[in-house]
Amino acid sequence: MRIAIRAGRFFDGTAAAPRDNVTLVVDGDRIAAIAAGDAPADVERTYEAACVVPGLINCHVHLEVNGAPNTQTFFLVRTPTERTLDVALNARLSLEAGVTTVRDLGGAEPSAIVLRDAIARGEHPGPTIVPAGRALCMTGGHGAFISRETDGPWDARKGVREQHKIGAGCIKLIATGGVLTKGAVPGQDQLSEEEMRAAVLEAKTHGMRVAAHAIGTNGIKNALRAGVNSIEHGHLLDDEAIALFKERGAYLVPTLAAVHCIFENISSGAQPDYVVRKATELFHLCGENVRKAFRAGVRIAGGSDAGTPYNPHENYAYEVELMSTVLGMTPQQALTAATATAAELLGVESGVLAEGRPADLLLLNYDLTGNVRAVRDPRVVIKAGRVAHERV
Ligand SMILES: [Zn+2]
Repeated sequence: MRIAIRAGRFFDGTAAAPRDNVTLVVDGDRIAAIAAGDAPADVERTYEAACVVPGLINCHVHLEVNGAPNTQTFFLVRTPTERTLDVALNARLSLEAGVTTVRDLGGAEPSAIVLRDAIARGEHPGPTIVPAGRALCMTGGHGAFISRETDGPWDARKGVREQHKIGAGCIKLIATGGVLTKGAVPGQDQLSEEEMRAAVLEAKTHGMRVAAHAIGTNGIKNALRAGVNSIEHGHLLDDEAIALFKERGAYLVPTLAAVHCIFENISSGAQPDYVVRKATELFHLCGENVRKAFRAGVRIAGGSDAGTPYNPHENYAYEVELMSTVLGMTPQQALTAATATAAELLGVESGVLAEGRPADLLLLNYDLTGNVRAVRDPRVVIKAGRVAHERV
């Protein structure tokens, strides 16, 4: 199938200046040409849009959860079968909202791995999935209710080998406590630097990249020294951590929506007290700290921690908005964090619109310049050259 898309304004996902009045030709699942002027005559259909951008990449999701106010209880009462259906539903909702690639950073079951393959075979609608399988945490650590408990460097290697065996595409480590686990303290170290270094070395031998959940200052630095590719959350980072990010070339995935969605829904009364207390503390610190990292030149990749309380998968546009309003990114910079930079972190080919690249792209009703909300509810979502969703 060969289609043309005439774009009033075109962003390729990178920091390059947007171009006006260009036509993209999509042939099969790839972009065949991007050029000024009209659509060629040999296409089956021509679309027109005020603005065209790459499909969004969400570097931090949990497809098994859907924004329920109490995550830990959700995993107790929801059966694995129900959660398998949730994974499929959340994948479809992500795609319809313009998210064409997600990195699933941990679930109780390998459903996201199985769904990745079903989507790749064309049997189910959804984004490209880069799944971590089960996260590795210390015994009794943050997320232990869904993770693979791991103690000691050799066990960390075994944990990585197990995820590789079941088909994981990346590895998730828990370096500090977190918000959604009862009793876990976000500032506290969990997996040790030694354990994480062993996991990173093992992951490398399988060609897998490593993400570390790290909120506490010291745990962030432990994970960076251990060689992880990205720090997830990173809310209590300091100047020394910023220097380490830059020295190691690591990415920061700030997941601002996770904290904001909890804080903005305290009045529901449905969230556990410990969640509200910890998120409120982080809400007052994370904006300033992450902004400092961004200004210092740390590479920021978009990820929303979708699935956490009141933070559904179809709301990734909110994270893009927060990167702009809270971190002071221009709308284009926020788009780049959620496309080209996210793709670099994940090691996927999408995220940049150029000849020969995958045709994962969004047709927007409004120009993104000066209006970061333009990425919300795209009019047409195209994934691998096919219309995945069209709003009428
Ligand atoms: Zn998460």
